[in-house]
Order: sequence, then C-alpha cells, then structure tokens
Amino acid sequence: MLRIGLTGGIGSGKSTVLQMLAGHGAACADADAISRATTAAGGPAIAAIRDSFGPDFITPEGALDRTRMRELAMADSTARARLEAIVHPLVALGIAREVEAAERAGRRCMVFDIPLLVESGRWRAQLDRILVVDCAPQTQVSRVMARSGLAEDAVRAILAAQASRAQRLAAADLVVCNEGLSMAQLAQEVATAARRFGL
Ligand code: ATP
Repeated sequence: MLRIGLTGGIGSGKSTVLQMLAGHGAACADADAISRATTAAGGPAIAAIRDSFGPDFITPEGALDRTRMRELAMADSTARARLEAIVHPLVALGIAREVEAAERAGRRCMVFDIPLLVESGRWRAQLDRILVVDCAPQTQVSRVMARSGLAEDAVRAILAAQASRAQRLAAADLVVCNEGLSMAQLAQEVATAARRFGL
C-alpha cells in the first residue's frame, strides 16, 4: 500500500484535497482527529494526563480541558513536552491501527493528513511520497480570514510560525497547485494526482 503524507500551510486546501482523494478511493488517516480522540472524554490519554497534570486539567465530563492546557502549554514548554510525550505515542498507535485496517481491506493507497509534517519530520520515514497543497500566502490569509473571522495579523502570525512555502515545496514529491482554481479545476488537479498514485 502506497503511503502518502499530505501537507500544506493553513488554509492551503488540505482538507478539501483529502476529501477529493478519498473520493478516488484513497484510505485516509487524520492525525488531528486521532489526537483529539485520545483526549476526548474516555480517551486513552485521559488517565495519564490526570496523573501527570492533576484533576484540574480534566473537565467534569472526563475530557482534557483544552483551554486550560493551552494556557499552560503556551507558558511552559516542559509542560507541552510532557503532554506530547503522552499523546504522540497514542496517536502513532491509532495511525498504526488505521494502516493495518486499510491493508487488511486491500486498499492501494493511504493518505495521511499530518499537520506540521515538514516542520517536525517525525513521520517522514514511514511515508512513500509527500504531497503538498500549495498556494500563495495571500490566498491562505484570505481563505482563513473568510473561514475563521480572525484578523489579518493573527492569520499572518500563524503563517509565520509554520514552515515557509519554499521549505514545503522542497520536501514535496508532488505538488497540487490550489491557486486561482475553481473547486472543479482543483478536482481535476487532484484527479491527475490520484492517477499518479495508482488510484
Ligand atoms: P487548515 O490548515 O486550516 O485545516 P486546509 O489547508 O485544510 O486548512 P481547507 O479547509 O481545505 O484548507 O480550505 C480552506 C478554505 O478554503 C475552505 O473554506 C475551502 O472550502 C476553501 N477553498 C479551498 N480551495 C478552494 C478553491 N480552489 N476555491 C474556493 N475555495 C477553496
């Protein structure tokens, strides 16, 4: 089974492209969704988070108190590392289970939506190809502002903290250009990429 890492900056169109690839028959693993599930009520990270950070970081429903944890993690990098040491192995396990299920089902290709793929490099060795969704930073800013209502400065600050467009393109095996395209044209681009992946 061909393993493809999908990445791109905020608002580049990753989720849109992922859905389109799924429509061509790719199996999909969403690292963010798996990560959220580990810290949802009853999730496998909750007991270790309670032990490590105390009950104040768990909501009455039994989920991670994200607001509280975000405040702590922003102020204290060792706390962030402690949280990652709990969550990352569970995410890796969740992804491994999805890979096994896709292989058992005889899927030809699996796409991994991994935020910060280029930034962290953690997953690179497990992937056969890197697919980058690319557009101009100004387009990212406009899309994210339209979707989130964030101010331009706030969106630009997020962009500045991510890998640069050049760094991402340097890591790419294949690029889907999502600039100046209608959704229908983007779908054509994705269809071409899907053929390259044997879908
Ligand atoms: P994030 O990093 O924030 O998760 P993303 O890279 O997954 O974002 P999407 O959610 O796929 O990006 O797209 C961002 C927004 O831009 C969405 O509202 C999407 O519908 C819109 N969009 C993406 N591509 C196009 C396009 N070619 N034409 C019009 N709208 C688009």
